[in-house]
Amino acid sequence: MGIARDTKYIFVTGGVTSSLGKGIISASLAKLLQARGYSVTIQKLDPYINIDPGTLNPYEHGECYVTEDGAETDLDLGHYERFLNITTSRANNITTGRIYQSVINKERKGEYLGETVQVVPHITDEIKHCIKLLGETNKYDFVLTEVGGTVGDIESLPYIEAIRQLKFELGKNSLAIHLTLIPYLSAAKELKTKPTQHSVKTLLEYGVQPDILVCRTEKTLNQSLKDKIALFCNVDTSSVIESIDTSSIYKVPLLMKEEELDVVVLKKISMDTHGDPDLEKWNTFLYRLENPEHIVRIGLVGKYIELIDAYKSIIESLIHAGATNDCKVEIKLLQSERLNEKNITKKLKDLSGIIVAPGFGDRGIEGKILAAKHARENKIPFLGLCLGMQCAVIEFARNVLKLKNAHSTEMNTNTPYPVIDIMEEQKKVTLKGGTMRLGAYPCDINTQSKTFSIYKQKHISERHRHRYEFNNEYLSDFENNGMKAPGINPNANLVEIVELIDHPWFIGVQFHPEYKSTVANPHPLFVSFVKAVLDHK
Ligand code: GLN
Repeated sequence: MGIARDTKYIFVTGGVTSSLGKGIISASLAKLLQARGYSVTIQKLDPYINIDPGTLNPYEHGECYVTEDGAETDLDLGHYERFLNITTSRANNITTGRIYQSVINKERKGEYLGETVQVVPHITDEIKHCIKLLGETNKYDFVLTEVGGTVGDIESLPYIEAIRQLKFELGKNSLAIHLTLIPYLSAAKELKTKPTQHSVKTLLEYGVQPDILVCRTEKTLNQSLKDKIALFCNVDTSSVIESIDTSSIYKVPLLMKEEELDVVVLKKISMDTHGDPDLEKWNTFLYRLENPEHIVRIGLVGKYIELIDAYKSIIESLIHAGATNDCKVEIKLLQSERLNEKNITKKLKDLSGIIVAPGFGDRGIEGKILAAKHARENKIPFLGLCLGMQCAVIEFARNVLKLKNAHSTEMNTNTPYPVIDIMEEQKKVTLKGGTMRLGAYPCDINTQSKTFSIYKQKHISERHRHRYEFNNEYLSDFENNGMKAPGINPNANLVEIVELIDHPWFIGVQFHPEYKSTVANPHPLFVSFVKAVLDHK
């Protein structure tokens, strides 16, 4: 056993409105602390009653992010991993559903025998336990805990109460940051502090005095405004941090550095503030992001195009890959339901690359299959992700192998050619939550493939989230006709990757490489895809 670390806990709450970017502020602060040499992790507490967002529609909650250990989590965990280049786990995303499930299971086991089980202390104790669990691993100097929702919501009350108790118990080893909005009223030409004052008052009613206020704003806060906020909210003026709107989330760490958020945090918990965070690599990335030499347009074909959050990790992976190629990637979101034989050429005509997105169910499936066909026939670089790979397989079966009405049994249980079929171990599964093939699985790469030239590794590991798979009964037929399977799961012999021989760049993957791309380590598949798109252009 090493020496126990004196882990510091930082709580981040939000006020006034949702969507202020708590996840990005948390990730940016964590980045600055990490860049000062500290080990940091971030956790998200979600006050809804679902056990996890795996059963939520992306319209409700954006993308469902998957961790190495197979947890279906909030998309903020994606930001944490992308900013910090760390892996998170099930312990990094807790929901009210999980808290209650655990408490109720304990009650049934008799762990509270004789007691009335209540929100305080039993639910709050469980929340505190989940927060401290990460610190108790002895791996982190800092554990940042972001509480979802807005202060004042009924459902976040137990979390705020847990923070109140923890702040009292941990004393100097803890800190509360409150993110609020300073709206600009154009009619009055003024920034308004009242919503922030009210939000802090609400927090105070629950017994939590924030130590630092991060104020989201579209205009610069002048000193007198900062003084006013400080006066009304019992914080030092230096603890009123401006968070001005910016063009890229990746600039936020730099803005927070300018505002000295890291220095204020370290001072408050009596830690060394000497030196500067080392952001050299981050700055190099930002420079390349902001000064592209080229520009390409890539089509992302999916069914949630009204909502870019549904494809967050894919979009961020393209940004990382673009910067690596000194290239700005413009993403055109295409609604697959609106693609048909007649309009496909016109709709895809100005695109130099096509991605077909992951997804579930029948809606828009024919448009996705058509997009794969268009990319194959016109030799446009193509990347199929999970369902996108399955669509490429279905398309190849129908149009090259001439297997009429070939399909996935997910969409058509009666297809004569089930080229994508439910996995054996999935056949007996009836429960929906957390029962897919989830998390990291190994994959062996054939060295005689394009995929190998991209990964430059024989053994890889990627994250999965699906129930259906390539049907091996058809494998030789595919391989003999030009669609190869260069990536195989060594334990279950499942096809994880397909690629076309007679095509400049056409790869489909059963897994989700987008979950593993970070600023420090852009994913090789995306990097190679963007390069191919650039060459094609
Ligand atoms: N619906 C498909 C399956 O379950 C693909 C899932 C996905 O794209 N994540 O296999």
